[in-house]
Amino acid sequence: MINNNDAIQYNLTQALTGPTCPVCRCLAEATRRFLDNLMYEFVNDNQTRDRLRATRGFCREHAWTLQKMGDPLGHSILYADLIDAYRQHLEKKGLLSKIKSTKFGQGKEEECLACREEREMERRYIFGLLRALNNGEFREAYRSSAGLCLPHYQLAEQQATDGDVRATLREVQIDRFAKLSAELKEFIRKSDYRNVDELPGEERDAWIRAVGLWVGSPHVEKEQRPFRHKKQPV
Ligand SMILES: [Zn+2]
Ligand SMILES: [Zn+2]
Repeated sequence: MINNNDAIQYNLTQALTGPTCPVCRCLAEATRRFLDNLMYEFVNDNQTRDRLRATRGFCREHAWTLQKMGDPLGHSILYADLIDAYRQHLEKKGLLSKIKSTKFGQGKEEECLACREEREMERRYIFGLLRALNNGEFREAYRSSAGLCLPHYQLAEQQATDGDVRATLREVQIDRFAKLSAELKEFIRKSDYRNVDELPGEERDAWIRAVGLWVGSPHVEKEQRPFRHKKQPV
C-alpha cells in the first residue's frame, strides 16, 4: 500500500500519470510554490528583500518562471528595489572608483534562491523515487509512466543501490527512448514530400517531447496559475 502521508511519495505517485518526467513535474510544482511563498513574504518582509538583493534577484530561468506566474505588483516592488539598489551602487562606485572597486550584491548568498531550493528538492525527490520503487504498486505505476528525463534518469541511476530498482529504471527508460525515437522517425518520414498526404498522428508533437526528455521539462507549462492576492505594504 502506498503511504500517502509521505508528501514526496504522494506527489510522485500523482505525477506518474502525467505526460512528462514525474520528477520534473514535482519539482516544477515545488518551485512554483517556493516562488509564490517567497514573493508573498517579500512584499512585507525586509529580510526577504535583503536576501533577494544579496542574490541580485533570480537567475534567468527562475526570473522568467516567476514572470510567467504573473503578479505584476510583486514584480514591480521587486524590480524597483533591485534597480534602485543597483543605481545607488553605481553612483557610489562612481565616487569610489579611484579608491576601490565594489561589487553589487556580493553577499554570502550569491546563488539564486530558487536554484538552491530546487537542488535540495531534486535531491529529496530522487531519493523518494528510489525508495518508492521498492513498493510493488508504485513500481507497476512507474512502468506505465512517461519515464524520467535524461538528467533525472542519470541522477536516479547513479544513486540507486538496489539492483532491481536499477533494472526497472533502465527497462522503462530504454522503452521510452525507443518509442520516442520511432515517433521522431515517423515525423521525419511524413515530412517527406512523397508522404504529404498522410495525416499526422501522435508523432506530431514528438519533437517537443524530445526536448523535454533530453533536458527536462520547463517549470511553467502552458497552464498559468492565478497568483495569490497581495496587499501593497504601507
Ligand atoms: Zn526530469
Ligand atoms: Zn535559479
